[in-house]
Amino acid sequence: MRERIAVACRVMAARGLADGILGHISVRTGADEVLVRCRGPRERGLAWTEPADVHAVGLDGAPKHPDGLGGWSVPNELPLHLETLRARPDVTAVAHAHPPAVVAADLAGIAIRPIVGAFDIPGARLAAGGVPVHPRGVLIRSRRLAGEMVRSLGDRPVVVLRGHGLTSTGATPEEAVLRALSVDGIARLALAVRAAGGVLADLPEEDLAELPDLGGSFNLEVAWRHETTRLAAVPP
Ligand SMILES: [Zn+2]
Repeated sequence: MRERIAVACRVMAARGLADGILGHISVRTGADEVLVRCRGPRERGLAWTEPADVHAVGLDGAPKHPDGLGGWSVPNELPLHLETLRARPDVTAVAHAHPPAVVAADLAGIAIRPIVGAFDIPGARLAAGGVPVHPRGVLIRSRRLAGEMVRSLGDRPVVVLRGHGLTSTGATPEEAVLRALSVDGIARLALAVRAAGGVLADLPEEDLAELPDLGGSFNLEVAWRHETTRLAAVPP
């Protein structure tokens, strides 16, 4: 799982969702154990995440290893992960990133809506179900601030954080990152449509209803294989 989290972090960076040293992914691995991407003693950024950067903490944020985290430190925004996992038993993985297009679209007053259909079916379905916005641009470094974000997230898979980024959830780190990629893709398209002078509108109901459910582990697996192959082909 450490390897999977490291690869998922590298995919987020390679896809432009987490430039520089910001962003992290966590995965619940037990009733009171969470693996989380930590900041290393020779931190180089998310694009160069290695399995050694992933460490186990409890739901209270304390390191599981008796000797602590070595030279690593947990993310400032660890509460964002822990509160989401506490509040949402259906969630196993949490990805947090600062995608510029998602932040720009929200600041431009553009909501993540199902403006496309077959262009990205999982993305259209995600958007059709609603992508809420958390209205605060704060660093989510306390249980109180994280609790506010979790209330904004509600029962949805992804929440946009105004002036900050997004938090995406899933049953696996791969699913959480793919959902973040979908939201980023819709934000980029929406900005392009607006920049071209176009008007944004939801896809007609009848078209949305016609989109097949391509969900399931097989399609997720294929989509992820594409991401990891792309990662290997295009070094950061
Ligand atoms: Zn952040």
